Amino acid sequence: MRAVVFTEPDHFELADVPDPASGPDLITVSVKATTICATDVKILHGTVPFVKFPHIPGHEFGGEIVEAGANVKGLRVGDLVGVEAHVGCGKCPRCLEGLYNLCENYGNLESGHTHIGFTVAGGLAEYCAVPAKAAHIMPEGLNASHAMFTDTLGIVLWAFERAGGVKGGETVAIVGPGALGLLAVQVARALGAGRIIVIGIPSDGKRLELARRLGADDVVVAEASQSPARSVRELTNGQGVDLVIEFAGTSDAGKQSLEMARRGGRVVLAGATSPGRELNVDLSVIVRGHLNVFGSVANPQSISRRANVMMQEGLVDVTPLITHELPLSEFSSAWEMFTERIGNPIRIMMYP
Ligand SMILES: [Zn+2]
Ligand SMILES: [Zn+2]
Repeated sequence: MRAVVFTEPDHFELADVPDPASGPDLITVSVKATTICATDVKILHGTVPFVKFPHIPGHEFGGEIVEAGANVKGLRVGDLVGVEAHVGCGKCPRCLEGLYNLCENYGNLESGHTHIGFTVAGGLAEYCAVPAKAAHIMPEGLNASHAMFTDTLGIVLWAFERAGGVKGGETVAIVGPGALGLLAVQVARALGAGRIIVIGIPSDGKRLELARRLGADDVVVAEASQSPARSVRELTNGQGVDLVIEFAGTSDAGKQSLEMARRGGRVVLAGATSPGRELNVDLSVIVRGHLNVFGSVANPQSISRRANVMMQEGLVDVTPLITHELPLSEFSSAWEMFTERIGNPIRIMMYP
C-alpha cells in the first residue's frame, strides 16, 4: 500500500510499504479521510517521546472497515468508523478507571497500549490496522470527513470536562484559534457559554475571523504592546473569565491563560503536549487568584462517542475547518502548505 513514511527526523517520503498485519483484536480500516496536525510536525522533528523511525504517522482519520479479527465484536466489514488515537492497555489502574489517556503502560506495546500514529503506524496511508476498541461507528448522517474529527473533537470535549464543563452563561476564553480552538468555540457555545473570547497571534487573522463566524463574541490579537490577558480583562469589566481553554501550546499562551482567569476561575492547559515549554508565572497569580488549573492530554475512552453525537446533532460543524482537500499522493504539497501556512490551512483533508 501507499503510505507516508517519516524515515528519520526531518525526512519523509511517500512509499510503497507492506499492508498492515491483521490480528484477532484488530480491525483494518481503508482510510477515507486523513490529515496532519501540529503534533505531526513535532513527530517529524523527533521531539515526541516513544515515536520510533521509520514511522507511518497519522492520528486524525476515519474510514471503512475492510477486515475484522476473530475476537472483534460489534464492528463489521463495511462500517464507517472514526478512530480514537489513544488506546490504553485496559489493565493498569488508570485504564481500569476508564482513563486510557493516562495509561501507566504508555509506549509498552506488549501491555496492549497503543497510540495510533505515535507508537504504532497511523492513518496517513491507504490502510491502517487498529485495535477494535479504538473505533467508533459513525452515527447516521455523518461521513468520512466527520470521522476524521472523531479523535480531535473528543480531545476538545475532554478539555472542557476536565474543568467540569461550562455552567450556563459563563464567560469562556479560548486561547489558540487552530483546529482545536475553533472546535472549542463551538463546544463552548453548545455547552451554554455566555460570552466567548478567542485569543490569537497577529498571523491568526483569518482564523480569528472564522472564530467569529463559529460563535466567538470577541477576538483578541496578542500584540507586543499589550498583554492579551489585559485585553481580556478590559472586555470583562476588569474581572477576567470564568473558564480558559488553552490550545496554543506556547509558554506565553500558558502564562496569559492563567492571567486572564477571574478569581476562582478555571484554566485548562491543553496545548503543550510535548516536553520543552516552560511556564514563567508569578505564583501569586494562581494562589491569590484561587485558580483551578488543569492539565489535559488526549481523551479517555468514550468521549469521542459523545463528540460524534455533537456532530450528528449539528452542535459542532467541522466542515468550515476543512480548508483544503488533496489526494494523499500530494502529501508533500499538503505538508508544505500546512507547515508554511500557505493559503491559511486549518485542516487539509487527504484522500488515500
Ligand atoms: Zn493531532
Ligand atoms: Zn493502561
